Amino acid sequence: MVVKREKLAPHVVWVRGWLLWIIPRSMQKQHKNVIIKNFMRNELRFLIIIAIASLMMFGSCTSVHEEVIPEEVSVVSDDSSLDDVTRLDLSVLQGVYGFKRETIQITPSTYVVEGDMLFERDSFQTKYAPKTMANARHYRHWLLVAPQYRNIPVFFVGNVPDVWRSAVRQAMNSWNAEGRSIRFFEGPFLASNGIAITFKNYNIYTGFGNAATTIASAALPYADGKPGGEIAINSVWPGLSSMTTSQRIFTMLHEFGHTIGFQHTDQPWSGQQIFTSSAWCNNNIDPNSIMRTGNHSTVQLSQCDKSAFMTLY
Ligand SMILES: [Zn+2]
Repeated sequence: MVVKREKLAPHVVWVRGWLLWIIPRSMQKQHKNVIIKNFMRNELRFLIIIAIASLMMFGSCTSVHEEVIPEEVSVVSDDSSLDDVTRLDLSVLQGVYGFKRETIQITPSTYVVEGDMLFERDSFQTKYAPKTMANARHYRHWLLVAPQYRNIPVFFVGNVPDVWRSAVRQAMNSWNAEGRSIRFFEGPFLASNGIAITFKNYNIYTGFGNAATTIASAALPYADGKPGGEIAINSVWPGLSSMTTSQRIFTMLHEFGHTIGFQHTDQPWSGQQIFTSSAWCNNNIDPNSIMRTGNHSTVQLSQCDKSAFMTLY
């Protein structure tokens, strides 16, 4: 019986031709003499093709990996060695204009931002700082406590020492005495818009700060308008047992300030500036602010703190 060959489409013939070329002749139906004659050449050709195909696959995998995993570049700027004027200029570029610090290059005559935007350093504050904001020294978090959450329950969690409970209560009273829309009061436990006062071993409960250098830490207000939910006192801070009553009160005044959105007054490169009604407060570092960093003995809000509090609440 004769099998009639079907006529194949040109591309099928082309594909079949390549397959025949790739597959060793020894695997194809041939005459023995031809197999012997061409054996070496055909097997070698087969192996070379397999080797090239493998290299192509391996090569393409390598290049995919290079594209998928970009090189991480992190730029850490240590501005502590810069002079005050430069740091104030940087605070305007960041706090007022919103440029990221790592994109600001400092040259002798200009600040080069994002590669090609120039700000002249000569008389920078006069030229670029908005007049009402230049040299402002009180700073706020972007988020503040919303009106419906300004009666703020404060409650103690766990074994908070009496001396600290006392400092917490005095700090609450000082803030309340200003008669603004924020009011702290004791109660109810775990209230949803409340502030938990905790006494934590920072070596065990990580994420609250440096166990060796942080006395206490606090959460800032949240996007839903609630105040920061916790003030954590570091039970293992080395200087804790030698703190004075005044220092404990200062610490709590300060941390409560954070929970309602205040940032530090002596870190002018951080945060959004607060417009106060006092020109002096807007142009000087307030030596009595409770929002200074460090361990101080100030037991009441300064005049500038009060102005800033009035501005925000
Ligand atoms: Zn602080």
